[in-house]
Amino acid sequence: MRIAFIAHDKKKDDMIEFVKRYRDLFEGHELFGTGTTGSLITEIIGLKVHRFLSGPLGGDQQIGAKVAQGEMDFIIFLRDPLTSQPHEPDVNALLRICDVHCVPLATNLGSAEVFVKALKNREESK
Ligand code: PGA
Repeated sequence: MRIAFIAHDKKKDDMIEFVKRYRDLFEGHELFGTGTTGSLITEIIGLKVHRFLSGPLGGDQQIGAKVAQGEMDFIIFLRDPLTSQPHEPDVNALLRICDVHCVPLATNLGSAEVFVKALKNREESK
């Protein structure tokens, strides 16, 4: 599967912890990420991640374009709901385009866990 990771600054530690926990599962997939999130995953966890621009510089929109083209299967986007973001319009556009194309999008660790469990079950039943 093609999986994208995006984390707002205050959620980056949570994202690293989450990806680390499921490293073995994610390793078998094609991974994408916004600039800083993607770099951290590669540097700290050692997974290969195709990096787009940083979110505020257009990375969310680049991931949205992949969704629109049918080239992304799942997005984990750990948003910070308590801090205003300069690129809020881009964030909303990404949520919208995922809904338009029915691409699953987890915006918090609870929904990301559900996705990972589904992915694990799918792989175990192969
Ligand atoms: P970043 O972008 O991974 O480059 O920090 C995330 C975002 O704020 O959308």
